[in-house]
Amino acid sequence: MEVFEIIKNGPSENRIDVVFMGDGYTPSEKPKFLSDIRRLTSDMWGAQTFASVLPLFNIWAVFAPSNDSGIGVGGKPKDTPFGLYRDGTELRGIYCSKPNEARKACTLTGPAACDYPSLIANDDYYGGLGGEFVISTRSNISGTVVLRHEMGHNLVEVGEEYDGGQVYSGVNSEPADRPLSELKWAHWFTDPDNIAEQKSVVRVQDYAWYDLSHGAYTLNFSSDGTYARWGLKISASGVDVDDAMRVSVDGVGLEWRGVGHLDRSFFDVRADSGFEKGDHTLTFALGIPAPPGAPIRQLCSVQLIEYAAEPAFHMDNSYISAYPTISQSGTKTYRPTNEGCLMRNMGLPIFCSVCKEGLWTSLLSRLHLIDTITTTCPGPGAPLITVTPLPLAQFRPGGDRGRDVERFAVRWYTRPAPSRLARQAVGGAGQIGNGTTEAWRRVRELDDLFVGTVHPGMWRVEVEFRSVEVRSEGGVMEGRWEGRVEGC
Ligand SMILES: [Zn+2]
Repeated sequence: MEVFEIIKNGPSENRIDVVFMGDGYTPSEKPKFLSDIRRLTSDMWGAQTFASVLPLFNIWAVFAPSNDSGIGVGGKPKDTPFGLYRDGTELRGIYCSKPNEARKACTLTGPAACDYPSLIANDDYYGGLGGEFVISTRSNISGTVVLRHEMGHNLVEVGEEYDGGQVYSGVNSEPADRPLSELKWAHWFTDPDNIAEQKSVVRVQDYAWYDLSHGAYTLNFSSDGTYARWGLKISASGVDVDDAMRVSVDGVGLEWRGVGHLDRSFFDVRADSGFEKGDHTLTFALGIPAPPGAPIRQLCSVQLIEYAAEPAFHMDNSYISAYPTISQSGTKTYRPTNEGCLMRNMGLPIFCSVCKEGLWTSLLSRLHLIDTITTTCPGPGAPLITVTPLPLAQFRPGGDRGRDVERFAVRWYTRPAPSRLARQAVGGAGQIGNGTTEAWRRVRELDDLFVGTVHPGMWRVEVEFRSVEVRSEGGVMEGRWEGRVEGC
C-alpha cells in the first residue's frame, strides 16, 4: 500500500485528517485512483461545500492494489482489499466486508492522521453509505453528492433535513413543539419579527427503487385543495435519453428530457397552481426500453409537496425560518431552510448557513486556535514571541477572504515574573501562584500583532477568530497562551 498527501495544511495533531482509500483499483489503475481522489477533493474542498474550512484539513489518499477491478454486486464482494459490494444491482447502498483491513490501512497515514476514513469504490455509478467509513464511488456525476452529505453527518453534528428519513437531531433540527422564537438557529432568522411555520404539506413520499421494465408504477394521493403550488422531486437512474421514462400527473404527461448519462440523477418539477380537492395520481412508466445489457431504467425516489402562496411559504432557499420536515414515522420537526442545504437537497453543493456555522464550531472545538508559540532571541536585547495561529484570515494559504469576512483579534498581556522566593512558595520554578502576583496588564501597542518584541516576564496572548459564517460560537473560536519569557 502507498500513502499520498493530497493536501497538507499543518500537523495532523492540530488538523482534521480525511483519508481516502480506494477499493477495486488494480495496480495498473493507480493513476486513475489518484486522479479520482484529486477530482473528488477539489469538488469538495475547492470552491464550495468545505472550501471555507479547507485550512483546517489534511487530505490523504491510500492506494491499496486490488486483484479484481471494480466492486461486487448481488451481495458478493470481489477480490478487493476492502471488499466493497452492492446488495443487488440497484444504485443505492455500498457495503464494506473488510472493515478491519480498512482500519489497518488508515493508520498508515500516521498516529494522529485517521480522523475520517473514507472508502472510494472504483465504480462509475451512484452508491454509498455513512458511518465509520464514508463510502462513495468515483462517479463523475454523483461521487461527491454522496460524499459531501455523508461527511456532513460525520463532520458536523447534523441530522437529516429531507423528509422520510430517520435521524433528526443536531444543529439543523428542532422538535415541532418548541416555541419558534427559541429555535436554536433563531440568530439566523431572515425576518425575526415575522417568524412562522412555513406552510406546506408532503403528499407523496416514496422510496420506490423500481425497475420500470416491470410495468407502470402508480402513486395515489389526495389533496384538500387549499394550497397554491406544488413541487415534485424525482430521482432516477438509467434515464439517459429523452423519453426513457414517462411521468404523468393525473394523466397529463410532463415533458421528460434525457440526462445524457446512466447515473442516478435528481429532478425538480414545479407548478404554480395547487391540486383540486380530491384524489390524484402520479404515474411513472417506461418510454424507450433500456438497450440489452445496459443498466435498468429505475425510479429511485418520489416526493410531492404542496406549498402555500408567499408569504405563508417562502420558496427562496436563502430564507431562514421554521420549515416543517416529516420523518419516516410521520413525526414533524423543523429545519432552517426550504431547499437551501445539501443535508436536504442532495444535488446542492452547499450547506445552509446554520449547518455551515455548525461545521465551523464542530471542527474548531477539536482544534487549538494557536498552532505554535515560539520565543526567540534575535540578538542581545529583547526577546521575540511569535504566534502562529491556524492558517485562517490573513494566514490562509490561498489568500485572505477580507477582514469583513473573517479576521483574527490578538491581545497581549504581561506581568512581572514572580521572584524566585515567591515561586518556591507556590511549589517550585515554573508554577505561578494565583493571587500572589500582580494583575495582568494589557499591552495595547501589540494589539492584533502576531510577532511581539517583549521584555522578560510573564506573558499572555489571547487570539480570537471571527467569521461572518459564525454568529454563535460557544467559546470555540478563542485560543490563549501563557508563559514565562527569559531575557536575552
Ligand atoms: Zn442545513
